[in-house]
Amino acid sequence: MSSTPLPVTSNFIRSIIDADLAGGKHRGIVTRFPPEPNGYLHVGHAKSICLNFGLAKDYHGKCNLRFDDTNPEKESEEYAQSIQDDVRWLGFQWDGEVRWASDYFEQLYQFAVELIQKGLAYVDDLTPEQMREYRGTLTHAGKNSPYRERSVAENLDLFTRMRAGEFADGSRVLRARIDMTSGNINMRDPAIYRIRRVHHIRTGDAWCIYPMYDYTHCISDALEGITHSLCTLEFEDHRPLYDWVLDNITIPCHPRQYEFSRLELHYTITSKRKLLQLVNEKRVSGWDDPRMPTIQGMRRRGYTPEGIREFAKRIGVSKSENTVDMAELESAIRDDLESKAPRVMAVINPLKVVVTNFVEGQTESREAGFHPQHAEFGARLVQLGKEIWIEADDFSENPPDGWQRLTIGGEVRLRYSFVLRCDEAIKDAAGKLIELRCSIDPDTLGKNPAGRKVKGVIHWLSCTHALQAEIRIYDRLFTVPEPDADKEFDFFNYLNPYSLSVAQGWVEACVRDAAPEARYQFERLGYFCADRRDHQAGGKLVFNRTVTLKDSWAKEQN
Ligand code: ATP
Ligand code: MG
Repeated sequence: MSSTPLPVTSNFIRSIIDADLAGGKHRGIVTRFPPEPNGYLHVGHAKSICLNFGLAKDYHGKCNLRFDDTNPEKESEEYAQSIQDDVRWLGFQWDGEVRWASDYFEQLYQFAVELIQKGLAYVDDLTPEQMREYRGTLTHAGKNSPYRERSVAENLDLFTRMRAGEFADGSRVLRARIDMTSGNINMRDPAIYRIRRVHHIRTGDAWCIYPMYDYTHCISDALEGITHSLCTLEFEDHRPLYDWVLDNITIPCHPRQYEFSRLELHYTITSKRKLLQLVNEKRVSGWDDPRMPTIQGMRRRGYTPEGIREFAKRIGVSKSENTVDMAELESAIRDDLESKAPRVMAVINPLKVVVTNFVEGQTESREAGFHPQHAEFGARLVQLGKEIWIEADDFSENPPDGWQRLTIGGEVRLRYSFVLRCDEAIKDAAGKLIELRCSIDPDTLGKNPAGRKVKGVIHWLSCTHALQAEIRIYDRLFTVPEPDADKEFDFFNYLNPYSLSVAQGWVEACVRDAAPEARYQFERLGYFCADRRDHQAGGKLVFNRTVTLKDSWAKEQN
């Protein structure tokens, strides 16, 4: 494990860019990240953001943030705002102002008029069902609509009146006139404008016709002078349409589209629609639930932007399938936190220990640094007291072979403190363990005990000094690696009922003033982050477990 960033690794897109720059095709590069503001961004989008903004950064080019806002019924200002926040939080800044496809609605309309004038677009009156029927299938060619031969004049008139609102929603569309027999269904006269009377977050009610994604996207890229338009592989079959539109309108720029494989993560889903379902049906607390693979969820859980960027670097960019184990993401996060997070102690599942020979003023506390490699993180006093908390599972009455933790008659080192021996276990009438009676060896502070070896070290807290904290432990959200693989079976059935457990634990007094989002290593327990929403510095303390110290995905470890 190492926290040093890997050197920039090459990929096929970099090779293309290198060749374009070396051959003089471009003098600089312009990329864009084009989300639809219809949901919160997820880890797959993070890959795309790191790729597009990362390339612009490395090649001293530019990357635009452009909202693809052509589907007004699903889009909102809230989503658009969260997307901007997420891009910035990941450490990137777009070139100039945020751009919107809707900024180009008038130009898009004029290009459509140009296509009509060239006999390359027509207004079709087929119903949606008829249109499906005429489209054909993968094995059967489509057939021409009876409206395909309308004159340019009639098409111009009808398209003008579509815009003017003379026709009902869905009653007509404007289609590109390409080839109904094409082997590529996307080229069988795709619709490029539809009639929808829906209020738009930017243009209000100015338009009742909206351009389709494929038509809008390539033109927006060209208007912005994008050099390399990067998208996921499912758009490979749309590339001929991307090129057809740009080849047939008068526009000086023709960006090239390149496809890479989508990121899929095991045990979770990367579909905005399905994530929305989880939120709407309250299976999670919201888009920022720390179990969600959204950027907001990962942030609230304590993942760092640097860790996510490192993950994106490690998984790389290619055209081959990119299903990744959660362990890879977690290890990138862990590697980043390892050198950044101050280390303190916390007890999640407390068992009380009475230190019978504790003497106030004599068996005192000691100073402990916040990080073994970073003296500059400072230090604090770790206070001992007559009563301490230890982790319940650090004690066993009948320990297995090789047990290095506490047992009756056995000894352990209290981290940063004395060696402790367990003398007696106290139980209630029902036989339930309620506390341990232990004694310290007063001659072991900062030195080994005389004449014997004590191997185990456990974390602990003084009861009078520790602060109560709610500690939220997260497990995988789904019980199977590919919860949405089977289209027939509802992915809700695979939700892990134990994905969240809440413990009332204790933390060291020194975290009292932790700010929301402050990150710590709780020694032996993992990395934790003060909750953004519920944690109040000096008040209610709430920590989310970000990630365990070791990979716990392959098998449970301690
Ligand atoms: P979803 O299918 O989840 O709704 P989307 O692809 O429709 O996602 P967009 O807002 O259109 O969402 O995505 C913006 C950009 O992010 C696109 O360029 C898209 O290719 C890219 N992207 C989306 N999902 C992934 C993914 N899983 N891996 C890599 N890139 C992705
Ligand atoms: Mg999309």
